[in-house]
Amino acid sequence: MSAMNRERFQSSLSRSRKIAVLTGAGVSAESGIPTFRGAGGLWRRHDATRLATPEAWQRDPGLVWEFYHHRRERALGCRPNPAHHALARLEARWRDAGGAFTLITQNIDGLHEQAGSRSVVRLHGSLWQVRCLSCGAVTENRDVPITPAFAGSGSPDPDAHARRFTAAELPHCGCGGVQRPHVVWFGEALQASDLAAAADAIDGCDLLLVVGTSAVVYPAAGFVPMARRHGALIAEINVEPSAVTSLCDFVFTGGAGEILPSLLDVAPAHG
Ligand SMILES: [Zn+2]
Repeated sequence: MSAMNRERFQSSLSRSRKIAVLTGAGVSAESGIPTFRGAGGLWRRHDATRLATPEAWQRDPGLVWEFYHHRRERALGCRPNPAHHALARLEARWRDAGGAFTLITQNIDGLHEQAGSRSVVRLHGSLWQVRCLSCGAVTENRDVPITPAFAGSGSPDPDAHARRFTAAELPHCGCGGVQRPHVVWFGEALQASDLAAAADAIDGCDLLLVVGTSAVVYPAAGFVPMARRHGALIAEINVEPSAVTSLCDFVFTGGAGEILPSLLDVAPAHG
């Protein structure tokens, strides 16, 4: 990245009153969260993208919960990295100065919140929430294991002994209904309220930061053109060029944890 590019970006950032940020798996990966995409996308012998589906749940909810138990256990040992912290500090400075700041994330691990981000739209739900299939109640749940029956299960080892979980061993709501992970699975629609909140954040923003995501999947894929249409500046921070690179005013190539702390160390010009 050229020094001039960096100065121009920081000057634009400083003058921005409404900032939107879109983050994806790349930010989590730097904290050690497995992405289950591409190489390394297997859990046991299962293609992870086919386990996170309504069809897999219909077939074997215990297996799906075992996969999520594993993901929760892994996430429990991961900490926010410098990228999470830099974004949380930026939000705090903008909030203090009366500016607007919204972080839209495709990540479900809760690391942005753990770092102190407050205005977070979780497009794909949360590893730490469950949803009742009977009454629809969404509740926080940080139990690891999710129920005692899952203790010691979830090993990603392809030779792990697989056991079938009974319906009674799954997590249950107070109403008696079975609970599933409150995450958006492949083939499912996003929550309308999350989509609306994301669109609000993008609409009229002065600056959109795209961090650690190739932004090729709907709806994230639509955010960059949406911001572009109303004249927002767009900056991308990614380890490699992506589908949206050509639409960006600023492109910084590298790990977000290395780039963001100094790049975002800017005070708002207003307030
Ligand atoms: Zn219920």
